[in-house]
Amino acid sequence: MSTDRTQARCSFCGRHTSEVRRMVAGPGAAYICDECIHLCTDILNDPTPFSTKALELASRPPIVVAAPRPADEAQAAHPTIETPQRTLLLEQEQKQQGMTLILHRLQLYQTYFELHFLWIRPPFSAGFSFVPRIIFFLRDNTGAQWHGDRGGMILARPDLASSPSNAVYQGSARFRPLPSQNTSTLTIRAAEPLGQFEDPPTRPWHFEITL
Ligand SMILES: [Zn+2]
Repeated sequence: MSTDRTQARCSFCGRHTSEVRRMVAGPGAAYICDECIHLCTDILNDPTPFSTKALELASRPPIVVAAPRPADEAQAAHPTIETPQRTLLLEQEQKQQGMTLILHRLQLYQTYFELHFLWIRPPFSAGFSFVPRIIFFLRDNTGAQWHGDRGGMILARPDLASSPSNAVYQGSARFRPLPSQNTSTLTIRAAEPLGQFEDPPTRPWHFEITL
């Protein structure tokens, strides 16, 4: 397959050749732009195991490079891939009892919104065949509430763990309907389902974000 290089996008940030100063071509459709190379250099120079920059880069959504084709055919092939209408970077981090929860970003779609997070904690002991989901409870300044999590996901990211005593989980929780026009702040509470069995029991995380 021949590749039209003017259509090249950085595999790390998604920007097109016209939006960056330099683009380095890799094998196939892989490219990296000058800014992402600088970011990688910063990550390599930072001795911190979970540097904010490393986590930010690792938790970006994948850049999908697809061959151009008629719009309706593309839609039929990927009916569930939707582009967020608005993305808010949150970068809020809280720690308790050896666990860290990072709220990474909020993505607003046409009919729902998603909260993307990273959860760093001691690995679940042997015998756990699943990762318990984090339970979210959201309330905005108008009193509207959300919970539940239909269509969210949680993935183990062993590639991001710095040592065997840490496990990294990347997840998203999905809520509907969208916040209203009058929503200006969101109070986000998050609880770990097994937290009640910890000694002492873990407190729910509590974040305040401004939209
Ligand atoms: Zn880039």
